[in-house]
Amino acid sequence: MASERDSLQDRIEDRRRELDVDALLVQAPADLRWATGFTGSNGLLLWTASARHFLTDGRYEEQAAMEVRGAEVHVPGYDLPGYLAERGLMAGLRQVAIDSAVLTVASHQRLKELFPTVSWVAEPGLFSKARAAKTEDEIEAVRRAQRITEHVLEQVVQDLRPGVSEREVAAELTVRCLRGGADAMAFDPIVAVAERSALPHATPTDRTVDPGDPVLLDFGCVVNGYASDMSRMVSLGAPSEALRRIHSIVVSAMEAAEEVLRGGVPARDVDRAARDVIDRAGYADRFPHSLGHGVGLSVHEYPTVSWRNAEPMPEGCIVTLEPGIYLPGAFGVRVEDLVLVLADGRERLTAIDRDLIIL
Ligand code: ZN
Ligand code: ZN
Repeated sequence: MASERDSLQDRIEDRRRELDVDALLVQAPADLRWATGFTGSNGLLLWTASARHFLTDGRYEEQAAMEVRGAEVHVPGYDLPGYLAERGLMAGLRQVAIDSAVLTVASHQRLKELFPTVSWVAEPGLFSKARAAKTEDEIEAVRRAQRITEHVLEQVVQDLRPGVSEREVAAELTVRCLRGGADAMAFDPIVAVAERSALPHATPTDRTVDPGDPVLLDFGCVVNGYASDMSRMVSLGAPSEALRRIHSIVVSAMEAAEEVLRGGVPARDVDRAARDVIDRAGYADRFPHSLGHGVGLSVHEYPTVSWRNAEPMPEGCIVTLEPGIYLPGAFGVRVEDLVLVLADGRERLTAIDRDLIIL
C-alpha cells in the first residue's frame, strides 16, 4: 500500500520523469483530486520539477483555499490557459504532457496558439497508473461506500414486491444510498428484470417485476470521492433450474479468478481463469465484456481486468470481478465483487455472499 502525501508528491514527480517532460498540465477532475485534494469540477495543475501552480475559477476560490495541498493556488477567472500565458508560468518549458483522454481538440488548439514553442506530449490518463495503488485512507473510503451499498441492497430486496418497476427500484437504491451517507451514486443504477437482464448495461424502464422473474441489480455509491460497485441477482419466487445453473457457473468463474488474482500476475490471466470456466460450460460467446475494472476516484479506472491487458496487476489496487452470462430473450446473470489486490493474494472488500437472493 502506498503511504500518504510525501509519497504522493514523489509519485507525481516520478511520473513527470518517466514521461521525460519539463511539466505536466493536469486537467482531469479525478487526477486533480488525487494530486491536490481539490474536489471541484474545473481546475488546472501545472507541475514542474520546481513549481506547482493550481488554477481554478471564481466559483471555487474559497474551496480551493481550503482543499488544495502542495500547490500555489491562483484564481484568475474562467480563462485558465490564458492566465498561464499572461503570467509567464510556462516560460522556459519545452516539453509538456497533457491528458489526451480529457483535453478537447479546441483546448489543444488554444494551447498551441498560446504557447507556440511548447511541444505537447499527448498521454491518455496522465495519472491513471500512478493512482492504481491505494493508500489506507483510499481503501477505507471504498470500504465505507461498499458498506452502504450492501446495506441498501439488503433493505431494497426486503421491500421488493410484484408490480414494482425497474425505475422505482432504481429510485429506491438512489434515495437509500444518499440517506445512508453516500455523497452521490457511482453511476446510474442498473435494475434489469427477466429478459432485460440479458442486456449487460440496461437502463431502468417501467417494466415491472412479476413472480418468478430474475432481477439483476448493479449499483454503487461514492464516499469522499471514492466509488463502490456491486452486482447481485434476485429471484422473485422460486428460481428456474436454468437460472440456478447459470448462476452457479458465474459464481464458479468468480472463484476461479480469485484463485489466481494477486499482485504481479498478468491481468489477462485473471480474466482467462474466469472465462475458462464459462467456456467449458458452453457459454464462450455469452460473456462479452471484460472480467473487471479498477475502482477508486473513478468507478472505471486502471487496470482493466481483460484478455486485452497483458500488464501485471498492481499491488494495492482495487478491482471488480464481474463475470456474467447473458442469454438473449431469456435472462442474464452477473455477480460482481470488489477486491483489494495484495502481493500474495487478495482481500474481498464485498462482505455479503454471492448466492442468488431468493424472495
Ligand atoms: Zn457494477
Ligand atoms: Zn463494475
